[in-house]
This record gives sequence, C-alpha cells and structure tokens, in this order.
Amino acid sequence: PTLSLILWSAPYRRRRLLAGERPAIVAPLVAMLGRVLALAFAALSIETRGAVALPLMTGAFVFVADLIRAFDRPLTVDFVAASSYGAGTTSSGTVRWTKAPSVPVRGRHVLLVEDIVDTGRTLDFVRQRIEADAPARVRIVTLLDKPSRRERPVHLDHVGFTVADQFVVGYGLDAAGQFRHLRHIAVLPEGEAAQLNRGGVAAETERHR
Ligand code: 5GP
Repeated sequence: PTLSLILWSAPYRRRRLLAGERPAIVAPLVAMLGRVLALAFAALSIETRGAVALPLMTGAFVFVADLIRAFDRPLTVDFVAASSYGAGTTSSGTVRWTKAPSVPVRGRHVLLVEDIVDTGRTLDFVRQRIEADAPARVRIVTLLDKPSRRERPVHLDHVGFTVADQFVVGYGLDAAGQFRHLRHIAVLPEGEAAQLNRGGVAAETERHR
C-alpha cells in the first residue's frame, strides 16, 4: 500500500496535489534524480576535494538530503542563503547573500541545489556570484520549476517537476514556516497563505492509506 500524507486545513477540503488525483510522494523520484546526477559527476575527473553541493536554505534541505544519498564519491555540502530586499511586500529584485559559501569553489565542480525556481532572481544572483569565483563548472538542479513566472533566464540542468503558477508546500517548502515536514508536495490555495501569515488557520496533517 502506498502511504501518503494529505494536506488538510479548514474547512477540511482535500487539496489537489501536484501530480493530480494522487499525492505525489517525492522521495523515490528524487532518489532517481540523484542517481542520474551521481552518474554525471562520476564521469568527471574530480580531484580529491570532490564536488561541492550548495543547497539554498531553507527550502532545499529535504531535497538535498535525499539527493546526495545517491552519491558514492567525495562530496562537500555547504548551505548557502540569499534573500531579496525591497520596500513593502513586493521584492525590489535586489538579491544579496545572507550566507555566502564557506568553502572555496575555485576549480571545483559545483552543484547548486534549489527547492523551486520562480522568477529566477535568486538563482540568477547565486549563479553569477559562484561563477565569479572561477569554479570548474556550475550545474543547477531544482526540485521544482515554475517557468510561467520567470523574469531572469536561468539554465536548469536538472528539474524534478514543473509546476503551474500555484503556491506549493511540503517536502521542505513552507508557507509561513509550516508544512516543510510533508513528504509530498501540495498546492496551497490562495487566501489560505494570507490567512496563515495572519496566524488565522491551524492546518493539520493526517495519514491515509
Ligand atoms: P525566485 O527568486 O526564483 O523568484 O524565488 C525562489 C524562492 O521563492 C524559492 O527558493 C522559494 O523560497 C520561494 N518560492 C517561490 N515559489 C514558491 C512556492 O510555490 N512555494 C514556496 N513554499 N516557496 C516558493
């Protein structure tokens, strides 16, 4: 039997999930993606310091955990964080590091690991800053891609799923700090995100067969 978590919240309607009727349990697909990546890296002549995986905080933490367990060669993992700043609720598009890499990337194979690429601003900034430090090569893997909202062209080497212009949560992704623990990805209806931000909805999770 497939064990899955379904996201419920007031008024207790079952949520449509990313992959349609059935909840998409992501980990097995990510493990497959990890094997593809591991093979791609195995084909490279990587010297002893190995490759560097740079997951973006915080959303990529579950994804990168499943992804890197497919690797059987030296690999450094170093979380990075970037945020955009602007007046009011809309971002100005100015991105800066809030946690730059703490390991050297010069001459090394770098794997940028994103949870979701939306406008592409974050990744565009991160990629440019990493490339300025002269790595051997930068590859980008993202769990989710939301291409309909792209503002910056970013080349994605590996994509887990493509999603429509909807707000998704689970498998590391949050809404107002919640839902990161879900093992599937769910769509959070508009309005509920706003309510969550006001602290008005107590969302629950339930286990189903
Ligand atoms: P970008 O710079 O590409 O516009 O933004 C990427 C970041 O926005 C992601 O790393 C993530 O933190 C956030 N984000 C964009 N779309 C979603 C979404 O549908 N759900 C969640 N939880 N975060 C999102």
